[in-house]
Amino acid sequence: MAEGVVLWDFDGTLAFRDGMWRGCLVDALTEIVPGHTVTAADLAPGLRDGFPWHSPETGHPGLSAPDEWWGALLPLFVGAYVRAGVDEDMATRSAQLVRVHYTDPGYWTVFPDSAAVLGELAEVGWCHIIVSNHVPELGALLRDLGLDEHFTAVVNSSLVGWEKPHRRIFEVALEQAGHPEHVWMVGDNPVADIGGAQAVGIPGILVNPGQDGLRMAARRILSGPPALGC
Ligand SMILES: [Mg+2]
Repeated sequence: MAEGVVLWDFDGTLAFRDGMWRGCLVDALTEIVPGHTVTAADLAPGLRDGFPWHSPETGHPGLSAPDEWWGALLPLFVGAYVRAGVDEDMATRSAQLVRVHYTDPGYWTVFPDSAAVLGELAEVGWCHIIVSNHVPELGALLRDLGLDEHFTAVVNSSLVGWEKPHRRIFEVALEQAGHPEHVWMVGDNPVADIGGAQAVGIPGILVNPGQDGLRMAARRILSGPPALGC
């Protein structure tokens, strides 16, 4: 298939959700308990562990159905609310709204350089594939944000059953890419993105998209061997 492929992290690299998970739980709670005083900081302790990407050494192929994936996270959300002082009944009702809030594209922002950088690299023959630790609805989110047209494949941990930095998700990405001659991984997480990629022989580029990071990544890719088509 492709001779040159760039693997891209999504969250924090190409786009971000305002307030991240903590902000999402605050928004869901507001819908159930208007006027509450719970803050994102109050919810942080209960969200520090328990997401699939917090235990990447363990695969979760049995959770690849979206309803099951979200259902497995409900106790985590309820626990975070209760730990922040929310009544258990209100916590349970709010937790059931987290999915809708998290996947609402209105809360997501694409970094200013994302589309331009993806387009410029594609013009000179690079293919793009997403490799993300994310929720099952990532594909729909990419469509809603107008980014899907840039990618030949989306390798989503929640559907693959393995989280970065586990080598299996990168191996799936390489398979989907057709084992290209030239490949890069671009991401904002030194462990999940860069360490994971390097462990399977993929050179990584750590980026800070808010500080011209995507432009710098593109320059580095373009300074190396050329892609030979997509
Ligand atoms: Mg990221």
